[in-house]
Amino acid sequence: MPDPIFAVDPRQAAVAGELYASARDLPLISPHGHVDPRLLADDEPFGDPARLLVVPDHYVTRMLLSQGIAPDRLGVPRRDGGPVETDGRTIWRLLAENWHLFRGTPSRLWLEQTFRTVFEVSTRLTPRTADEVYDAIAARLAEPSFRPRALFERFNIEVLATTESPADDLAQHAKLAADGWGGRVITTFRPDDVVDMDRPDWASSVRQMGALAGVDITTYPRYLDALRARRQAFIAAGATSSDHGHPTARTASLPASDVARLFEKGLRGDATAADAEMFRAAMLVEFAAMSIEDGLVMQLHPGAVRDHNDVLFRAHGKDVGGDIPQATDYVHALRPLLDAYGMDPRLRLVLYTLDEYTFSRELAPLAGGYPALYLGAPWWFLDTPDAMRRFREAVTDAAGFYNTAGFVDDTRAFCSIPVRHDVARRSDAAYLASLVVQQRLPMDEALETMADLAYHLPKRVFRLDGGAA
Ligand SMILES: [Zn+2]
Repeated sequence: MPDPIFAVDPRQAAVAGELYASARDLPLISPHGHVDPRLLADDEPFGDPARLLVVPDHYVTRMLLSQGIAPDRLGVPRRDGGPVETDGRTIWRLLAENWHLFRGTPSRLWLEQTFRTVFEVSTRLTPRTADEVYDAIAARLAEPSFRPRALFERFNIEVLATTESPADDLAQHAKLAADGWGGRVITTFRPDDVVDMDRPDWASSVRQMGALAGVDITTYPRYLDALRARRQAFIAAGATSSDHGHPTARTASLPASDVARLFEKGLRGDATAADAEMFRAAMLVEFAAMSIEDGLVMQLHPGAVRDHNDVLFRAHGKDVGGDIPQATDYVHALRPLLDAYGMDPRLRLVLYTLDEYTFSRELAPLAGGYPALYLGAPWWFLDTPDAMRRFREAVTDAAGFYNTAGFVDDTRAFCSIPVRHDVARRSDAAYLASLVVQQRLPMDEALETMADLAYHLPKRVFRLDGGAA
């Protein structure tokens, strides 16, 4: 059976198959994602198939919304607590009736592969087979071997990073560490809610962080003290990286007194949108300095216009599929940070994009020119087999393979983790195979690169191997 990702050319497909087979069973390194640590801390059985695979998957719910199917009918909770569909089977049937919308999409590829490889259900989903597929998955979910920790082990996850705010007390991670289970689940320092003054809850998040750090945050220096203290707490809970989700990649080197003035305006509730942008820009440079001190690898995720769909946001809140990518500048935006620290071998900054036009024009030349920079995996709308191929084709010329950071699944959906990594491994195998058949790379080097992309690079770049640099 032809593989859907490898290649149409049979010789290239055979080489891709060999490369993929060499890396297929390597453990999964998941240095960036959004699985709720409570899932593994509690180890309770998952809910019904719809609540596991449809309701929280904004790729799925947004496509259905685009054809007029209200999120209420898919069980997506409302901010006002109003009624939404609660019957899993009804939600599942609605998905099956509209399954044709997903033809050719990565959502269909991921879901079908999840049904098949995680739940061993290979009946094709159609309106007619909706109940059969639902019942088969529900039956699996009732088995003890389908609890989260059992799946973590079956998925062969070597390390899984979740994402928490400095205003989070990390209780779930403490619970995981205390009960001796042994799976490596670490946190990631994600300070957006204490950095982004545009958020209505910014000041309260700052206060909450201060309470956890034992610092009364009345001034900018105390704010920095609290951030440093929380970073140490995160490092103690296993964190090896920080993650920064900003609307733009803008950075700024400002005198501390200027940043302090912006901070004080924020605390007074007087900060304008321009002040908030400048404060975020200055804080990125500040965080780079902190990374050099404490060794956390920095990740920057710019370019999402959050909550673009205002009606959806007002009804259902954040992270339900209403975000849209925008054009993103890196060359000028990152320059202040790179002028300050781009040549410092202690800094590691992993860059992501939602704007694939920057792959070859900006990101690859930057990563190919500064020791601090690495290119993160194709992210979100670009986390698809075709975009992964375009990524390698666009960045390898100027950045090679070793200025890239390996795959991150970036998922909230725990059961999709093995499928996401498998698709990335197949995509990389397909790209490497194209180099092999064109005689641009000998097979032994392609095999070594394959293992590096799948396993060794993410482990090394995200400092998951215990290495300091
Ligand atoms: Zn993420």
